Amino acid sequence: MALTCYLCSGVLPSWLNVGSFGAGSTPMRNLFCPTCGLIQQSPIPKEESYIFEQNISAQELRAKQEGMAAEAQKLLKKRQSMMGETMEQLIRPGMKIADLGCGYGSFIAYLRDQKSVSVLGVELNPQQAQFAQSAFGLPIVPSTIEEWIDRDVEQFDLIILSHVVEHLRDPITVLQRLQKRLTPGGKMVIEVPNVAVPTRSLHWFFKPEHFWNFTHPTFRALLAKAGMRIEVFQTPAEHSKILAVCRYDAVTPVLPSSVYVLKLLCRMQWLRVKSFLRRSLER
Ligand SMILES: [Zn+2]
Repeated sequence: MALTCYLCSGVLPSWLNVGSFGAGSTPMRNLFCPTCGLIQQSPIPKEESYIFEQNISAQELRAKQEGMAAEAQKLLKKRQSMMGETMEQLIRPGMKIADLGCGYGSFIAYLRDQKSVSVLGVELNPQQAQFAQSAFGLPIVPSTIEEWIDRDVEQFDLIILSHVVEHLRDPITVLQRLQKRLTPGGKMVIEVPNVAVPTRSLHWFFKPEHFWNFTHPTFRALLAKAGMRIEVFQTPAEHSKILAVCRYDAVTPVLPSSVYVLKLLCRMQWLRVKSFLRRSLER
């Protein structure tokens, strides 16, 4: 049976693999769609543990708890820059904010303490969920985002998805369904890695828990397919990240042009060579 692209439904050639490394003993392919340029893992792993990043060691967790304040600052810095600045623009006191895939919770702890907003975190990784509750006293729902959507009817003014969409098996459906958890006029703040601008080796992108690798046109098309209009879109050249602020509104998805797709394919092949050379030199 022919494989088809998640985004454009075009035929996905099984040989057009742009990243099969970095998965340890698990064979892994990242197929490039010659129609739209989306890079998708094939097959997508079934195990739930692949949704989130692996737990850190007991020693690392202890260090995290001991140096909590310093660690929170460090974690925060990671999320400052684009995410921090964007949130500064959007936040108003009294807002209700949900951070889906909140990790250790440092970002929403900071928002709660500094910006007078009420926050909720959703985190599937038990280690991270537990840390966010005990270290910061945050309300955390330890579940998948899919389960959380139907769990109750509480609505939020802002929903954050920071480096989460690439971990979802069916991101379009999840984004569509999230509309009911947003207040009328509420906004989504979504950040994903940008595979075309790697400031690190490609191994950081091609991981078992990353099912999709976006660039700015494929990410734009995905958001449009999910029924979202983009209000702010940032893809700075110095960051391997894409950030979008969106609201729910019908828009027509535009797929990347064939010229862009061809350029992207050439770029991915060049990045693979660079990554390989870098690794060889490091050995
Ligand atoms: Zn496609």
